[in-house]
Amino acid sequence: MRELTTQGMRPDVVRDDLDFDVLFVGGGPANLAGLWRLLDRIEAHNAQPGVKKLEGLTIGLIEKGGEIGDHAFSGAVLDPRALVELCPDYLAQDFPTEGEVKEEEVWLLSEQGGFQLPFLPPFFNNHGSHVVSLSRMVRWMADRLGSREVEGVDVMLLPGFAGLKVLWEDQADGTKRVAGVQTADQGVNADGSKRGNFEPGSNLRAKVTVFGEGPRGHLARELEEVLGLQADAPNPQVFETGAKEVWEVPEGQVPEGFVLHSTGWPLKDGESGGSFVYKMKGNRVAVGYVVSLDTQDPFADAHLVLQQFKTHPRIASLLQGGKVVQYGGKALAIGGWHSMPRLAFAGGMLVGDAAQMVNAARLKGIHLGMKGGIQAADTLVQALVEDDFSAASLSRYSQAFMEGWAGQEMRKVRNFHQSVAHGLNPLAMLRIGLGMVSGGWVPGDPLKAEADADRTQTTERFYGKKGLHREDLPLPVKFDGERLIQKLDDVYLSGVMHDEHQPGHLKIVKGDDVCVACYASKGAPCTTFCPAQVYEMHPDAEGKVEKVEIAFSNCVHCKTCDIKCPEGNVLWTVPEGGGGPQYSLC
Ligand code: SF4
Repeated sequence: MRELTTQGMRPDVVRDDLDFDVLFVGGGPANLAGLWRLLDRIEAHNAQPGVKKLEGLTIGLIEKGGEIGDHAFSGAVLDPRALVELCPDYLAQDFPTEGEVKEEEVWLLSEQGGFQLPFLPPFFNNHGSHVVSLSRMVRWMADRLGSREVEGVDVMLLPGFAGLKVLWEDQADGTKRVAGVQTADQGVNADGSKRGNFEPGSNLRAKVTVFGEGPRGHLARELEEVLGLQADAPNPQVFETGAKEVWEVPEGQVPEGFVLHSTGWPLKDGESGGSFVYKMKGNRVAVGYVVSLDTQDPFADAHLVLQQFKTHPRIASLLQGGKVVQYGGKALAIGGWHSMPRLAFAGGMLVGDAAQMVNAARLKGIHLGMKGGIQAADTLVQALVEDDFSAASLSRYSQAFMEGWAGQEMRKVRNFHQSVAHGLNPLAMLRIGLGMVSGGWVPGDPLKAEADADRTQTTERFYGKKGLHREDLPLPVKFDGERLIQKLDDVYLSGVMHDEHQPGHLKIVKGDDVCVACYASKGAPCTTFCPAQVYEMHPDAEGKVEKVEIAFSNCVHCKTCDIKCPEGNVLWTVPEGGGGPQYSLC
């Protein structure tokens, strides 16, 4: 296990120990659904006559964002199936819908045209579903949980607390069990010295810890290193990166309930991904593009693809006269069924994007992650009653998920992402069609996926020129600061902030020489794929570079660098709690 931070190893620091029965790590929809269900089930259990009551419980949820919702980011058109299980009358409870989907378009784009599909593919049919801002939706969930009182249970919602490392205990059989997490220190200078506001992180000890950190969680990475959770999966975890802008447009320009999806241009041949345009409340429109990170292009850049996309006449007509009001970027799990890690282990569980809970065909994962949280909670109640938090006990969650509707929905599209991973070619279309009639089976099932970082090509192989750098290529758009926005100007609209005195949380693990060699052979892909322009290479007068410059305070916590650095040279570690983007509409 790599220890790449001085945090957590300070002999001069006395840490508080706080004990929890259940600790949720991450304030996303999967964990909030889990906490919601857990409280419901404890209440229902205790209402039964003659059962051993669940009393004196302490349940916590920590979130690295300053507020729950600050780091939540998605398209999104919500499939409400899991939400209905939690809250059947959610629409009557001030649920922050952005509007019901009424009008849908699906396009295969070319640069100036393309064609609109005359029918909606079944997986794109969203009629009756609701457009949401995930940030607003999870705030709504947290508000309801924060005001909830359940007899016998002390609930603590703790935003601003970043889980730094997993706490482990040795078991009698020589294996390890998860025993909670240690939170990050606050108020540490880059040289490790303490500032006046120094607050040591605490040891949050728990009988069970539920990890719902989102894609490529840094604690999930530690779990993988110690427990090998991916060992039985046919494929590695794979991802795409999405860049999204929220626009305000003139009233009436985009109809209420309007949803558009597209693929094709501006993606290159052999790439997969697609766009979304969703009408939101108050003349707002979400416009975004996701690019699969298995692209071979060393200069892949979801932000730039989004800018290109906005120049298409169909999209430009929707945004005309408007302005961008918020921007964000995030990696999204896309592998699904064949990329899922083991979901349960001694003392812990994985839910949501951290467990690749996604339906790649429908471009949806929120409802699956929430169902994962719900099923984790159902198992937790049993575990609390039996006082058994072993791997065998918690594995009931894994079985329930795989056999339930969420697992079965994922199973039916288990080869979808691999089918389209190299573009929407005739073979991909054949596989999609066959998978739809066979319940997911295609010849070669499970189709293989490669780790995203391994797919990146040298500039010589991809562009036919050695030593090529991004600035050597013509820009496909002319930024105008109004419709076409430079990356750093967009980043400003994410509200991102970090205390700049703290140690940088982006670690170069194999050394600067590796970055220099990568700049020569692959043009330093981090300088383009990062949706927040955190990485820059500045050559001297002779064109030489010595290292990559890292503006960590701009980091929007998307995790793309940890996933896609072709040399495996970047490690995303957690900054002080409270830092990062501040999404309110994304
Ligand atoms: Fe994403 Fe890494 Fe850039 Fe942060 S530094 S925004 S995690 S790619």
